Amino acid sequence: MIEWLFFLLPVAALSGWLLARKHYKHNPRLQGSAVSPDYFQGLNYLLNEQPDKAIEVFVRLLEVNSETVETHFALANLFRRRGEIDRAIRIHQNLIARPNLPVAQRTQALVELGLDYMNAGVLDRAEQLFLDVLNKPSPPTEAFQQLLRIYQQEKAWPKAIEMAQKVQSQSQENMGALIAQFYCEMAEQQLKSSNNNVAILLKSAHFHDHNCVRATLLEAKLHMQAGNFRKASKSLLRIEKQDHRFLQEALPLLLDCYLQMNNLKVFNNWLDALLVEYPNMTSARLMLTHVIQLQQGSQAAQDYLYPQLQKHPSVEGLHRLISLGEQSNPMLVPLIKGVTDTLVRRGYRYTCKSCGFAGKSMHWQCPGCKQWGSVQPTEIHLSSLETLLESSK
Ligand SMILES: [Zn+2]
Repeated sequence: MIEWLFFLLPVAALSGWLLARKHYKHNPRLQGSAVSPDYFQGLNYLLNEQPDKAIEVFVRLLEVNSETVETHFALANLFRRRGEIDRAIRIHQNLIARPNLPVAQRTQALVELGLDYMNAGVLDRAEQLFLDVLNKPSPPTEAFQQLLRIYQQEKAWPKAIEMAQKVQSQSQENMGALIAQFYCEMAEQQLKSSNNNVAILLKSAHFHDHNCVRATLLEAKLHMQAGNFRKASKSLLRIEKQDHRFLQEALPLLLDCYLQMNNLKVFNNWLDALLVEYPNMTSARLMLTHVIQLQQGSQAAQDYLYPQLQKHPSVEGLHRLISLGEQSNPMLVPLIKGVTDTLVRRGYRYTCKSCGFAGKSMHWQCPGCKQWGSVQPTEIHLSSLETLLESSK
C-alpha cells in the first residue's frame, strides 16, 4: 500500500494543481483561497489507504475537459501498468461516458479501454472495441496493430492477413514478410490434411515475400508428398538465393530427394561448390561427409573430413569424425586441441550477475552497470562446450 502511495501522490498533486489552475482561471476572486475541499477528502482517503474511494473522489472532482483529460489517461495508465486493470477500465469508461469529450480523445479512450481488455485477456471485448474504432474518422494505427496482435494470438490467419494489409496501407510499413508467414501457417495446417489448395497458399506467400524460405520449404515438401522429387529439389536449391543461412534446413530434404532420384553424385558436386562459396558452412560439410560415406564408405568419409577440420575446426565435425571410427587415431589429439583452444579463447569467463555483462578478465567494478563486486567468475567455457556437445547428439 505504501508503494501504491508513492506512485499516486505525484498524480494527485498534479490533479490538484490542474484543478487549482482551472479554479483560479474561472473565478478570479478565489485567488489565494484553498482548493476544493473534495481534493483534501481524496487525499485523506489516499493517506488512509482507501484508494478506491480516493479514485472516486478524484474522478468526480476532475471535470473532464481538454485540460484534465490527460490526467485521467495518466492515472489509468498507471493502474494498468500496475496490473490493476479494473480501475483502469473504470476511468476509461468514465471518460467515454462524457458527452462533451472531443472526438480525438474519445477515440483515444476507446483504444485505451481496448488495451485494458487486452491486458485482462478478454480478447473478444478488445476486438469489438478496436473494430468500433476503425469505423471512426481517421482511426489511429494503434487500433489496426492491436487487431493484428489479437488475430495472431487467436491464430485467425485470414483475418490477420487482412489486418496486416490494412496496417501496411496505413503506415507504409512493409508487412510482406509477415503476411507470407501467415499464408505459410495456413499452408502448414492444410498440408497435414487435405492439401488441395496448399499450392495456392504458398503462391500467395511468395507473392508477398519473394524470399520466403518457409514457403519454399513447404513447396518442396508438397512436391515430395506427390513423389515429384525433381521439382522438390529445384525448389530447395532456390533457398541459396533467398537466404543461404537457411540452407541447413533444406539439406536433409535435399538428401532425401537425391536418394530417391538415385543421383547422389549431383548432390555431392553441388555441396562441393557450396563449400567453395561458403567455407564456414559446417552443416554442408557434415552433409558432404555423409554423402561421401553413403557413396564410398566410412574410410573415404574420414579421409575427407580430417583435413577439412584442420582448416575449419568445429565441435560437430569432431563429433562426426569420432563417430566415423577415428577413436584410435593419435592424429585426433591435435584436432581436439584445436577445437578446445578455440572454445577456451572465445568463451567469456566472467559475467555480471546484475546486468549480464560478459568478459574475459576480472573487473571488480562492472564496466557495464558500474556496480562493485557484481562480476563473478563462471565456468562458462566448460558449460558452453557441454551445450555444444549436447546439441550435436
Ligand atoms: Zn554489470
